[in-house]
Amino acid sequence: MREMSLGDFKIYWLPEAKFMLDGGSMFGVVPKVLWTKRYPVDGENYIPLVTNPVLIDTGEKRVLLDTGLGNKMTEKQKKIYRIEEYDLLGESLQALGLEFTDIDYVIYSHLDFDHASGGTRLEAGEVVPTFPNARYVVQEREWDDMRSPGKRTSHTYWTENWQVLATKDLVDVVEGYKEILPGIEVFLSGGHTRGHQVIKVSSQGETMLHFGDLMPMHSHLNPLWVMAYDNYPMDSVQQKEQWLEEAILGNWWLSFYHDPFMAAIRVDEKREIVEQL
Ligand SMILES: [Zn+2]
Repeated sequence: MREMSLGDFKIYWLPEAKFMLDGGSMFGVVPKVLWTKRYPVDGENYIPLVTNPVLIDTGEKRVLLDTGLGNKMTEKQKKIYRIEEYDLLGESLQALGLEFTDIDYVIYSHLDFDHASGGTRLEAGEVVPTFPNARYVVQEREWDDMRSPGKRTSHTYWTENWQVLATKDLVDVVEGYKEILPGIEVFLSGGHTRGHQVIKVSSQGETMLHFGDLMPMHSHLNPLWVMAYDNYPMDSVQQKEQWLEEAILGNWWLSFYHDPFMAAIRVDEKREIVEQL
């Protein structure tokens, strides 16, 4: 488990699952000859990925950014996504002396299944909220889109990932910008999905930006390297460019959810990685 201090906050990248996807789908229009110089690939064009929900301990509250694959994946899905290890979030929290009930906020970058599925669990055949004491924070647009998915999104917005949260009234929707807690802010970005948001974490003059799926791995640092999965790629490019400029000026950390090799990086004006975790 990788961790760091950010001002008064402690931040942990919690191992949750390991899986694989087609490399082309993760690198969109980028030619294979280029992306394979920056990321490993196997003989069947699959690339290794993880889900690492990010825990922020502010000293008073515990905030989780995204939730992983959870325990609701079917055997077929495990095969399709080449899921090796999964549903490790409970163990990762336990290693820090924590339980699901200790989480105060879950902030979703967006609600694709690989980010939202861990937010609810199958227990004795029933789907229940994984974090019963948490407020679940999501952009209103994403929440609406999830509950009435379209042709392209119905395979990734799952009813079992939202219904019980709605029934138990655990969701807080945000329209655009909101400070969730002192030092933890969310901003609507769009791009990957219409309601995707980025999360900015700041304490004592230090800042980390969680890009969600706008920058899933370190190899996606170039704003033009966007996934084929992105529904609004031009918005992704614009948002990445804008945030990256600000991050470089402020010497912010950039945090990754899907990267097995790096949890977070800092980059210089030439946009080269100068520090990594
Ligand atoms: Zn993702």
